[in-house]
Amino acid sequence: MFYLKEKFTTTTVKVVEESTKQNTTQKQNDLSKQHPIKKERAASKPLGKVVYLTFDDGPSQLTGQFLDILKEHDIKATFFMQGVNLQNKSFEESVKRATQEGHYIGGHSMSHDSKRLYTDGQFVPEMIETLNLIHDITGTNPKLVRPPYGSVPGLNSKQLRNEIAEADIKVWDWTIDSLDWQSKGNPNQIVENIKNGTVRDVEVVLMHENTQVLQVLPEIISFYKEKGYHFGVYDDRNHFIQNFQNDKRF
Ligand SMILES: [Zn+2]
Repeated sequence: MFYLKEKFTTTTVKVVEESTKQNTTQKQNDLSKQHPIKKERAASKPLGKVVYLTFDDGPSQLTGQFLDILKEHDIKATFFMQGVNLQNKSFEESVKRATQEGHYIGGHSMSHDSKRLYTDGQFVPEMIETLNLIHDITGTNPKLVRPPYGSVPGLNSKQLRNEIAEADIKVWDWTIDSLDWQSKGNPNQIVENIKNGTVRDVEVVLMHENTQVLQVLPEIISFYKEKGYHFGVYDDRNHFIQNFQNDKRF
């Protein structure tokens, strides 16, 4: 109730005060007015059932086909692209097209190399380089990245997390791992993994740009439509926390 109302009006605090806070001092009231709202604004998940389809490791030869299917079903998705692939000129048109058709493109590092990114501490420089490449191709200014192999254990280092916060980069892991890379010869397993994992109102599904996902993508889309989900696309202006480190700064 509180959060629902809070989305639409700035006077909701009054309602909360009247119903739950009777014997507090004015000072405490003022604090309660400010802090919960501020926090919630910074991290509010969308209302209702929303699924974010996400595709990692592109751009690739398959990007255009992913875009065709998404277009056919009139839904938007979120891509996390890798620097070395963004530097491949033959993929540039697909990258531009993705942006033009309303999809979000975030960064997925230059090297995808666990040792370089996490052990050698190159996470932030590589992500900045990747985000700059996306900007150069699309004109967008993305802030969101997905850590290769996930933020746990990769970003266990506090120093790395501080660097991310200082660079104002946002980090998204996922809520469902489709394990698509394991199911090359058995794409139906991808659908099963996703169905079994779908238990929350807001889901972020990890997939990759590969042929097995392409084969079952229409089925995945149908599943979520039948379940009453809307298809969300990441928006820098409405960021919410989705990292395994549960670091509220990104
Ligand atoms: Zn990856």
